[in-house]
Amino acid sequence: MVVSRCFTMKSLKMFSVQRRGMHLLKDKAYINGEWVKATSNAVYPVQNPADDNVITELPDMDAADAKTAVDAAANTFKTWRDTTAKERSYILRKWFNLCEKHSDDLAAIITAEAGKPLAESKGEIAYGNSFLEWFADTARHINGEIIPSPWPNKQILLTRQPLGVVSVITPWNFPYAMITRKVGALMAAGCTCVIKPSEDTPLSALAAAELAEQAGVPKGVINVITSSRKNAPGVGKVLCEDENVGCISFTGSTFVGKILYGQAAKGIKRVALELGGNAPYIVFPSADIEHALDQAMLAKFRNNGQACIGANRFLIHEAVYDKFVEGFKSRIGKKCILGPGTKEGVTCGPLINKEQAKKVSGLVDDAVSKGAEALIGGKFAKELGDKFYESTLLVNVKPDMNIYNEEIFGPVASCLKISSEEEALKIANSTRSGLAAYVFTKDLGQAFRMSRQLEFGMVAINDGILSAAEPAFGGIKESGIGREGSLHGAEEYTDIKYTLMSALDK
Ligand code: ADP
Repeated sequence: MVVSRCFTMKSLKMFSVQRRGMHLLKDKAYINGEWVKATSNAVYPVQNPADDNVITELPDMDAADAKTAVDAAANTFKTWRDTTAKERSYILRKWFNLCEKHSDDLAAIITAEAGKPLAESKGEIAYGNSFLEWFADTARHINGEIIPSPWPNKQILLTRQPLGVVSVITPWNFPYAMITRKVGALMAAGCTCVIKPSEDTPLSALAAAELAEQAGVPKGVINVITSSRKNAPGVGKVLCEDENVGCISFTGSTFVGKILYGQAAKGIKRVALELGGNAPYIVFPSADIEHALDQAMLAKFRNNGQACIGANRFLIHEAVYDKFVEGFKSRIGKKCILGPGTKEGVTCGPLINKEQAKKVSGLVDDAVSKGAEALIGGKFAKELGDKFYESTLLVNVKPDMNIYNEEIFGPVASCLKISSEEEALKIANSTRSGLAAYVFTKDLGQAFRMSRQLEFGMVAINDGILSAAEPAFGGIKESGIGREGSLHGAEEYTDIKYTLMSALDK
């Protein structure tokens, strides 16, 4: 599909202006160390969600291109797996240093493709880079074990071996950090990869690949293929089913995660899945309410609510409910400044695309039609464009409303009143998602009880932000399989090899 008709004179002008500010902007995919077009020559447009201007066109690759990229990664794996941990650590650190040096350029690209306020894009680059730094260190600590043998004259060795080519499929909400978190880990372990970034936000992935090349990452270790949403299923099938692929590492919706898990099952492939969440944010009477409110702003409105660990259900104890709701409304009114991410002072950008905007407004409209009340927001800011939705606070939310059960993925805080710890736990756990949960309490026993009984992979006590390179990030139930960050994040990309050294007396 050739889409040059998408270029209006205005968008072409914007395109050249934006290009001047973004030295790392690429218009080709990256396979085996070469910047390449799609075999079919097809392209698709990448648009700025704030104004719909086309930033650039990229190759609209298909299954054949995916196969070429997997073959390149498989070929390079033969040599990359034998590099020393020290060499891999050195290269990762060089990549980290270059990404740090170019953080302003990288942030400008994220704001253009994802719409985030520039300050948040800079935050994402710092966060994303922290994984490269962490895995540069971790590469040298992926150790084996020597286990006391039950037999005389025999020795048991367990070593960790890289599991091969990893297919990396990532979403648009943290387009850079979701890549460094996976690629840093898999490279530390000695694997190679093919990355398929989101069709909406492929530009930061390509920029990261350019810096990897400059850092001396050998050709074929990192390959990036780009495709429109139309081609994603065909590309995804190859990335899951090709016999040279050892693992599928995916961050995205539970819906797509289940498709990929099914495809991976055909070849008994390893999976690392980081899927949707439905995080409860529970506030008990003993909590420092001002602190809980400040943290709620971060847990809900960071990235305009488009985060899998974003607070999705505010469960507020009746003793502090009115105070919390009043404080939340006033903070939203003062602190949520909607606008294009490039504008000074803006804290909330557009939603990523029309489908997402429709989903968020649909959830609010459904809730309001069934008796919920929007204390602030509850509608589009039409004067800014069709993807800008006002930061919203909903009360009187009930179980028959779609918003009660679904992941909102937008700037809408929905509040429920609870009257006991048991009720909080019952509501919080009544979901098939199990990614993150937040609890605010000063009662130490209650904090430990909640941590134990919440069916979530991650629990933050008295904090609204919990991710970093050091802890293990991941979910249970339908929120995923595997952990990212920490030493576990690198070990995900290894197999344990058991070697028996026998006949030591012969
Ligand atoms: P989101 O829309 O929130 O980004 P998705 O799960 O829909 O979440 O998409 C995440 C990633 O999965 C994107 O890179 C997208 O292109 C990709 N994707 C979507 N459908 C498929 C599929 N059938 N096979 C492989 N990848 C897919």
